[in-house]
This record gives sequence, C-alpha cells and structure tokens, in this order.
Amino acid sequence: MKIVTIIGARPQFIKASVLSIELIKNNIQEVIIHTGQHFDPNMSDIFFNQMDIPRPQYILDINGLNHGAMTGRMLEQIETILLNESPDFVLVYGDTNSTLAGSLAAKKLHIKVIHVEAGLRSFNMNMPEEINRILTDRISNYLFCPTDAAIDNLHKEGFARFDCKVESVGDVMYDCFLHFKSKQQKPEFLENTANPFILATIHRAENTDDINNLTNIVKFFNDLHRDGYNVILPIHPRTRNIIANTGLKLDFMVVEPVGYLEMLWLLNNCAAVITDSGGMQKEAYFAKKKCLTLRTETEWVELVNIGWNTLINPQQAIKIVDKNFITPKKYINFYGNGDACSKIVAILLLDFNNKKKVITCVE
Ligand code: UDP
Repeated sequence: MKIVTIIGARPQFIKASVLSIELIKNNIQEVIIHTGQHFDPNMSDIFFNQMDIPRPQYILDINGLNHGAMTGRMLEQIETILLNESPDFVLVYGDTNSTLAGSLAAKKLHIKVIHVEAGLRSFNMNMPEEINRILTDRISNYLFCPTDAAIDNLHKEGFARFDCKVESVGDVMYDCFLHFKSKQQKPEFLENTANPFILATIHRAENTDDINNLTNIVKFFNDLHRDGYNVILPIHPRTRNIIANTGLKLDFMVVEPVGYLEMLWLLNNCAAVITDSGGMQKEAYFAKKKCLTLRTETEWVELVNIGWNTLINPQQAIKIVDKNFITPKKYINFYGNGDACSKIVAILLLDFNNKKKVITCVE
C-alpha cells in the first residue's frame, strides 16, 4: 500500500507525526509532500526534528500568496506529483489550503482521499477553514471523525447517501498528546520564572486581520497583565508581522513560537489557556486546564457544553473575572483512547487487502 500525505501547516505536522509512526509499524509506504505553507524553522523544521517526522520527499515552497493563488499553485504541483507517484490513497489533515488542494488534486485523478479530522464545522462560512473542510469532506472517501459532534454534522449533511466511509476513530491530537507527554521540555525562556502564568496564542485571520479585534485582544492581554496575571504569548509569525505594522504595544511576555515539546510543558504547567487556536482548545482540556477561546463559535462544542471552554467575543473582550478561570469538576473522555491512528490504519488495511483479494479472484 502506498499513501501520499499532504501537509503544510504546523498543526498538520503535529498530527502527521503519530500517524506516520503507525504507517511505518504496518509497513505502509508513505510519501510526504510539504506544500510549504508554513516554512519558518520554528513553524516547520522544529516539529520534524523534535517529533521524528519522516522527511518530506517533496517540498513545494508555496506560501505568502492569496488563497486562490496559493490553492491553485498547490493543486497544479500536487497533481504532477500524484501522476508520478500513483499512490493508492492521498491523506490530508484538517482544514488548510493544503488540505483542499491535496484532496481536489487526488479526487480528479480518481485516487481515494482520506480526510483525518473530518466533519468539524464552525457554521461560519466567512472562515477560510470552514470552506476548506466542507469541500474536502464532500470529496473524501474516508472521513475519519474525532468527535460525536463531527459524526452528527456529517449525518445532518446527508453523508449516509454518499459513496464514502464515515468513521468515528477519536482524535489523533489526543494520540499525539499521550505519545509525547513524557518528553515535554521546559522552555529556556522560563528557566528562572516560577510564577503561575496564562498561556495565550492568537493567529486566526478574523482576529489578526481585523484591526478592531486585534486591538481589543491586545488590550485584553495588557489589562490581564496589569491586573497581575502573567500572560505568555508564543507569537505566530502572521500575528507578529501584523502587530509590527500597527504600532500596538504589548506589555506582557511575548516569545517566539515554541516546539511541540515545549508547548506540552507550557500546557501542563500553566494556570489557564486563552487562545483562538483549534488544537489548543483540546490540548488545554487534555492537560485539564480551563480555556477561554477568543472566538464567537467553535468546532469543539462539547467542551463549551461542559464548561471547560468559554467563548469570548473578541469585540467584547473585556476585563476578565477570576471565576472565568475556575476548572469544572466533570471530565468526560470525548476524544477517544489515544488509539485513533491505529484505528485509521486498521480500517485502511482491511479495505485495501479486501480489494486486493477481489482483484485476485477476478483475475
Ligand atoms: N503549537 C506549538 N507551538 C506554538 C503554538 C502552537 O507547538 O508556539 C501547537 C499546539 O500545541 C497545537 C498546534 O500547534 O498542537 C495548533 O496549531 P495552530 O494553533 O497553529 O492551528 P489550529 O489548531 O488553530 O489549526
């Protein structure tokens, strides 16, 4: 069996790390295409190094373009590679332009598409991620869903009628969290700090590209800092570049993006998380930390429903009260048992071997 995996952004490297281990374990050939969407060493190389992700055979270096140009260039180049490699499956993760370009290129060549993290919806079509995930789901042959809510979304959209497999496998990010937990590393910049801190990240386009939202969020963090909370923000390069052009003043601790092992340490040792990241909302939960999400909606609704995640409208981000940081008592295992990757590979192997048997019989 040969799989071409298409990745390009930080969360995809992280998710791919654990599934690659499972593919190797099962002697499945994996060819990795890195589209180049994220390219800074601390947004890309660090994950390949720290997490032992197999080196990509192809690096496309496509970044810094508008959505249409970026997706279009990826589509064209991925198609050429797929024609050359002729894999049995193309594997895509999540909801980026790389996800959409990869799935579309494969589908048009009649190569089976595997979508890991299928079925998630924010129901906000202004988000580029929502467009990418809806289109990718519709053309995927295998939709591996991380949560019950994701399965429900696909049922409501009529996926039972489509020629595809919808499978509930759990969340590969939980596999990842468990796999690397024992390797967490305290970041060097904290060497002499023992104080409790709030871990913050901000990178969603609706927060960084909207100057009102961005200004509110910076003010929100500055106020928290002034009120005695230690805020630590590993800053996404996009956010850093935009802030540099606004003249906004950041009073709290801003550091470069950290590797996954440092992030695990920060998650496990912080007092709470404030973020607009999809992945960090769940990782906060895995680490049993309260999360405040600077968005008006989320794909991970189960965490809001049980009070571990509180949505805060960035337009109304105001002084926070201590009770927002209280962690609820009830902890439910929403994201599987840390075996999502082995379930995914078992399903693919079963289908692949059955198909091979049918072909042998016909011959
Ligand atoms: N992450 C990291 N270093 C950072 C910030 C985030 O390793 O400085 C990890 C984080 O732990 C999570 C993933 O990157 O696993 C989330 O990526 P991001 O927030 O960029 O994307 P999203 O999850 O919103 O798609």
